[in-house]
Amino acid sequence: MSSVNWLEEVLKRKDEFISDLQGLLRIKSVLDEENAKEDAPLGQGIKDALQYMLDLGEKDGFSSKNVGNLAGHLEMGEGKELVGILGHVDVVPEGDGWSVEPYGAEVKDGKIYARGSSDDKGPTIAAYYGMKIVKDLGLPLSKRVRLIIGTDEESNWRCVDHYFQQEEMPTTGFVPDADFPIIFAEKGISDYDIVQPARDGQAIGKYELVSFQSGRRYNMVPDYAEAHLKMDEMNTAEVQNYLAYLNEIKLEGDAKFVDSELVLTLIGKSAHGAEPRNGNNAGIFMAEYLKTLELDNTGKEYVETVAGFYEKSRGEVFGIAYEDDDSGELTINVGVMNFSKDEGGRIGLNMRYPVTFDIDEGKRKIEATLAEKGLRLENFTDSKPTYVKKDDPLIKTLQKVYEEQTGEKAELLAIGGGTYSRALDKGVAFGAMFPGREDVMHQKDEYAIVEDLFKASAIYAQAIYELAK
Ligand SMILES: [Zn+2]
Repeated sequence: MSSVNWLEEVLKRKDEFISDLQGLLRIKSVLDEENAKEDAPLGQGIKDALQYMLDLGEKDGFSSKNVGNLAGHLEMGEGKELVGILGHVDVVPEGDGWSVEPYGAEVKDGKIYARGSSDDKGPTIAAYYGMKIVKDLGLPLSKRVRLIIGTDEESNWRCVDHYFQQEEMPTTGFVPDADFPIIFAEKGISDYDIVQPARDGQAIGKYELVSFQSGRRYNMVPDYAEAHLKMDEMNTAEVQNYLAYLNEIKLEGDAKFVDSELVLTLIGKSAHGAEPRNGNNAGIFMAEYLKTLELDNTGKEYVETVAGFYEKSRGEVFGIAYEDDDSGELTINVGVMNFSKDEGGRIGLNMRYPVTFDIDEGKRKIEATLAEKGLRLENFTDSKPTYVKKDDPLIKTLQKVYEEQTGEKAELLAIGGGTYSRALDKGVAFGAMFPGREDVMHQKDEYAIVEDLFKASAIYAQAIYELAK
C-alpha cells in the first residue's frame, strides 16, 4: 500500500479535522480536584474532554472504552498483538497574558490558538485522524491498534496508572507528546532527600545559622536563596564581605540586618534540572559563601553538605558518576534546600541516570556515603528509564515513515527529561513538534501550526499502518 498518499488523505478531511480539534480545545480540561465527583475524579472538564474523544471514536466506528473516567481507548483491527498510541487531553491552566481567548481555538494566519493546541490535544487529534484514515481506507491489519487517551499527564499520571492496572499493555507503540523525529532513550529520574538531624550540644561559633532556604522544585535549578544568621556582635564588615563575594561571582543579592539577624539573599539563574550546568544554583553559591564563616556545628555541617555539590553535578559526591553512549551522563540537580537550627536540614535532589545505569546499586552507594556522615536518605522515588534499541523494528519503521513523509533524516534523540512514553513498556516519543519550531507548550498564546498538524497526521497514519499491517 505504498501507493497511498497519506497527506492527501489528511487534506481531504481537513475541515472535519479542524472542527473536531476545535471542539476538543474548547473544553477547559484543567485538573479540578476541588470539584471532583465519583464519576469525575479529576473534575468535570477533564471528564468531558475524555468523553468527547470517546464519542468521536464511536461515531466513526471504533470500539471504545472508558476506564474509570481517568483514561479510555479507541480500538480497531484484529490480532493478538496490540499497537498503542498514547496521548492526553488534560491541559495545564491557561495562566495570564493571552492576546486571544485561551479556549477559543481561533485559527489565524495558519495557526490554531488554544491551551492544549500543541500539548497535547492537537497531536492527539492528529493521531486520531491517522487511525481514522487507515480505517476509512479499509486496509488489512494483522494487529489491533489502540489510541489510549490519558487525562492526568500534566499532574500525577493517575490516568495511566489506573488504566494499565485494568487494561493490557501494548506490545509496541508511540507517544505523540513531545518532539519529532524520535526520542528513543530517556534517562531514569529519581528524586530523594538528604536529611541532616539537628545536632545536640553544639558549640556556638561566631555565627549561628538560623535558617536557610532555596528552591521549591526538585527538577529546577533554584534562582533564589536566603539565609538568616545570628552573630556575637553585629558589624557592617559582614555586609561588605558578602557584597564582595557577590561581586566576585558576578551574581546579584543583598545583605542587611533585620531585627537581630543578618539576612543574606542571592539571585542565581534558574534552569531545567535535567542540566544543572545551564543554571546558577543560588543555594549552592550561598552555601559556598557560608562555609567560609565560623558557623555553629549544625549549620556548618549543612552548608558544607550543600557546597559539596559545587561544580559537581555528575554524581561525584556519591561516587556514582556514570555515562553511556546512548543516553549520556548521570546528573544531579540540587533543587530544594531547607534548614532550620531546631529541625536540622534537608536537601532535595533530582537525579537523572543513563539507561544502562544500575539504580539499585546506585542507591546503595548513596546511602552508604550518607551513613558515613551521619546523614539519611529519605523519600526516594524512581521513574525507570525508557529505551528502545536503535535496531528495533519499532525504531526502523518510524524512521522509514518519517523520512518518507518529510524527506529529512530521522535523527534518534536521547533526553534527560521524561515524556509520557515512559508509561509504555515499549514505546518512543514521536512528535508532534517538528525540529526548529518554537516550543509554546505551557506558554501563553499556545498555538499549533495547522500544516504541521496535517503533516504529523499523515506521518501517524502511515506509521499506524506500517506497524499494524
Ligand atoms: Zn503533554
